[in-house]
Amino acid sequence: MIPGVAVLGSTGSIGTSALKVLARQRDRFRVVALTAFGQKDRLEAQVAAFRPAFVGLVSGAGTDGWRAGRASLVEAVTRPDVDIVLNGIVGAAGLEATLAALAAGKRVALANKETLVMAGELVTRTARERGGEIVPVDSEHSAVLQCVTGRSPAEVQRLILTASGGPFHSWDAERVRHATVDEALNHPTWRMGRKITVDSATLANKALEVIEAHFLFGLPYDRIEAVVHPQSVIHSFVEFVDGSVMAQLGFPNMELPILYALTHPDRVPDDGVTRFDPVAAGPLTFEPVRTEVFPALALGMRAGRTGGSAPAAFNAANEVAVAAFLAGRALFGRIAEVIAVVLEEQIVTDVSSVEAVLEADAWARRRAEELLRCS
Ligand code: NAD
Ligand code: MG
Repeated sequence: MIPGVAVLGSTGSIGTSALKVLARQRDRFRVVALTAFGQKDRLEAQVAAFRPAFVGLVSGAGTDGWRAGRASLVEAVTRPDVDIVLNGIVGAAGLEATLAALAAGKRVALANKETLVMAGELVTRTARERGGEIVPVDSEHSAVLQCVTGRSPAEVQRLILTASGGPFHSWDAERVRHATVDEALNHPTWRMGRKITVDSATLANKALEVIEAHFLFGLPYDRIEAVVHPQSVIHSFVEFVDGSVMAQLGFPNMELPILYALTHPDRVPDDGVTRFDPVAAGPLTFEPVRTEVFPALALGMRAGRTGGSAPAAFNAANEVAVAAFLAGRALFGRIAEVIAVVLEEQIVTDVSSVEAVLEADAWARRRAEELLRCS
């Protein structure tokens, strides 16, 4: 039986890349469910191309036979004909679907990193106890997974996640503070959705990824580092206990990590990925992260170390501040400032239930909104 795939967020950057991969792999996977937030026209075109058994539109009225509203996400991922859920939803909105899919024992090919950051313990426990499996789509984590597959966890010493550094990696602090939306959205190496593109510019994305790596690979924070690598060709390094270092390379394109998340631990032929050429890749360079210019990284890593509800608050404050920046309501520099105040004021609690996670998330969102109103 060909495994069935549900693509959540099919109209987004990850979703459309996933459908390109799935169109080339029709004899290995079939698309049985598609969901999107809005963008009905784009979803309609995808439905015409893939003829899925299930279509969900979260916001607005769909077409005859489509499911509507938030409940359509859980409905999509728990279907018996769905084996793999590709979660390409952006932000905390993806949490319920991730948990429902894992609780139903599915493989979740997870692009929606916010889910693991806000509820890492709950999500990993649900997978463990209910037979679900989390396979990362994020390129850095896919690289790590590809390096460690077949090795025992005790052999892994350290992870070094690469970061492009974003569009401002060589700018001075004052210029970064006043960066415009267009400047922040002008990412040097990746074409992605707006939220993650801003996260890449603040380096909040790398903080989210360090926390994601902590939960995926079970390593303590002092063994997860980040380094700036502007070419985005090396997707991450893994150092083993004997000192040997492995890395995974490729031109920046999410189709490869998406395909690997579907096939892990196997590899299958795919003619859609640009073949690697070391000469064309040119010089590969590395720089330390300038934490004084990009405070969001250190704030997020500290939230990770604090644990409990701190990562959920970090994520929520960041989502709210990024939305305000994109709407022209806040300076770029305000994003990290708002996160800092929210984390400072937060009373950290245990977050072993969904309710506790959502409460921490809601408090941080409210507080971030208040701070943005009076700035
Ligand atoms: P995007 O904005 O391009 O797409 C988001 C998708 O989610 C859209 O289909 C949208 O309809 C859907 N969506 C948005 N809000 C929703 C809601 N409330 N309920 C249900 N669906 C909703 O974002 P993206 O760049 O594709 O990123 C998706 C996720 O993947 C993010 O978590 C991001 O961090 C992660 N990711 C993206 C990339 C990339 O290359 N784009 C790389 C690594 C990780
Ligand atoms: Mg990444």
